This record gives sequence, structure tokens and C-alpha cells, in this order.
Amino acid sequence: MSKFASFINAEEKFSIKSEDLPALNEGEILVKNLCTSICRSDIHTYQGKRIEKSPTILGHEIVGIIEQLGPHAPLHDLRGNELKVGDKVTWAIYASSPDDLLSKAAIPQKAKDLFKYGHEQITNTSHFHGGLSEHTILRKNTPIIILKQDLTNEIASLINCSVATVAGAVRLAGVINNKSVAVYGTGMLGIIACAMLSKMGASQVIAIDENATRLKITKEFGATESYLHNEELQNKVDIVLEFSGSISAMQHSIHVLKIGGIVIWIGAVFPQPAVQLNAEYIIRNLLTIKGLHNYNNNDFINAVNFMEQYHAFFDFESLIKKGFVLEQVESAFEYATNHNPFRVSIDLS
Ligand SMILES: [Zn+2]
Repeated sequence: MSKFASFINAEEKFSIKSEDLPALNEGEILVKNLCTSICRSDIHTYQGKRIEKSPTILGHEIVGIIEQLGPHAPLHDLRGNELKVGDKVTWAIYASSPDDLLSKAAIPQKAKDLFKYGHEQITNTSHFHGGLSEHTILRKNTPIIILKQDLTNEIASLINCSVATVAGAVRLAGVINNKSVAVYGTGMLGIIACAMLSKMGASQVIAIDENATRLKITKEFGATESYLHNEELQNKVDIVLEFSGSISAMQHSIHVLKIGGIVIWIGAVFPQPAVQLNAEYIIRNLLTIKGLHNYNNNDFINAVNFMEQYHAFFDFESLIKKGFVLEQVESAFEYATNHNPFRVSIDLS
């Protein structure tokens, strides 16, 4: 038997249930979940801003321990290490066909047969696919990485959404060394971006937000300067990473770029009206706008490498509100909604 929090919708919310774990299919791995942190997209679903097919099991920022390897389960993780029972693992939020052209073009998060942890409906043949549960069944073609044991569960749970998405954004931005970068939106992703950019040699890491308290915190995570959203930047920048998803921020982000600058939009992952852009301005200033949704296998590896190397250098732990268990999932979401900490984590160990 395994316990999970079944989610219906913004009105009916959660109920704690217990069901038998099914026998593992070809290529599957059973993981005992250790910790799940609540991502912004989980909160949007909880509030009804996003709709998932239900009943579902929310939560995709997960870390766990391999409990059982199914028939013909993969032998190695993405870094080439042998997968064994007892390994502490993180896995990508997606599983998709590796033979699809999109996978071959390094966009597996949109490839054929896409399956996304924490976003799937519970059916007779598909269950235990979210983090608000004692177990997760990893499907065939899920990218998995064995973690070093010294990462705490709370820190490790951030890797497969927040950190990997930031790694993807940084990849799209190109060379970071000696570049000036502005980071719009200093929630969990923005803070991680400041940390990563500072370690990649950015000459300036400029944090921009409407929340002065959050801006202050960015200084401990590598930001060299910070501005409130309505303040004028002293100098223009080479690169912008936009995590807030706010329309005014996206419009503003174009105008802080130097000639030839590049902006990556990552935050706007919920329904919203169109952004107003002036094409002539973009053309005459040779600007590039790129969008990023989720990340790919290389970003995922880079995310793990980054956290393993720098988890003790930056106090990410201080950004996480701990102390909730699975039965308190409702209060954990209420806390996340009402107090808006960087992250709320659920202890499943
Ligand atoms: Zn997420």
C-alpha cells in the first residue's frame, strides 16, 4: 500500500488516499519519495489558474530513493553510473520517446509520447506519478540521475524543476563570462539564476523585482546590484532572464538590452493577454527574444552538477519553509499561498 494526496480541482482540493502499488512494467523503477517541494505551477493549479485532468497527484519537484527495479529497467543514469536499489535519485519532470525528432534536437520536453510527472491523471493503468505521494513509479525513458548523499532532501528536490529550468535559460543565453545580466523576478528561479550566473563569471548580476525584501536576499546569492521594477537601470545589459511572467516586465526587459542583446522569457507559463512589442525597435537594436519551457537532459545534468558543487556555498536551505508532512498538504498549500515563501517542502521520508 502507498499513501498519496489525490487532487481534484481548486474547489474540491485534496484528499489523502491509500492504494496498492501496481506491479512494475517493462523499464519501470519504483521510488520511495523523500521530499517534494511545491512549485509555483502547483500553486497555480491549486488556485485554479491552471487546470489539470483529475484526479491527479500534484508535485514534480521530487527526490527519492530507488526501492525496486522493474523488468528491463535502465542499467545506468544520465551520468553513466549504475542504478541500484538504495540510490538517492532525481529525475526529469518528463519522459518521452528518445527516437522522436524533437528528442534528437535536444527538446525531449516536447517530444512524442510526452509524460509529465505531477501533471498526469490517475487512471487504471497510470498511477503514482506525482510527488505528493509516498511513492513514484518512474516510467521507461525517464532521465534519472543518482545524487551524492550530502545534498539534503529539501535542496535536492529543487533540482528537477527550478534549477534545471535555470540551467536551460542560461544555456539559451550563450556565453555568460564577462557579460552583464539582468534577472527579472526573484522567486526561487530568479535567486538560483543569480547564484548560477555569478559562478559562471557574469560581470554584473542585476536583480529586478517589485519586492524589496526579496531583492535584499539576492545579494547573498550572487546579485551585484538590485533595482525595484519601476527604477531606471544605470546601464543597459547584454542578457536578460525574465522569470516573473509579468507583461510589463517582459515589455520592459526589451528596453534594458544593449544593441545585439538577448532576452530569454521563462516566467509566463499561465494564460495571459498579448505582450506589446515595437518591431522597429527590435530590428534596429538587433535584439533576440527566446522562450524556454522546462529543460533538456543536458540542462538537467548541469543542474545536478551545479547543486552538488555549490549547495554549501549558497544558503538555499534558508529559502525553504519545512515542517509539513503528506497529511498536512492542504495547510502546506495554504501556507504557500498566504505567506509566499520561496518554497514550501513536504517531508515524505
Ligand atoms: Zn515546477
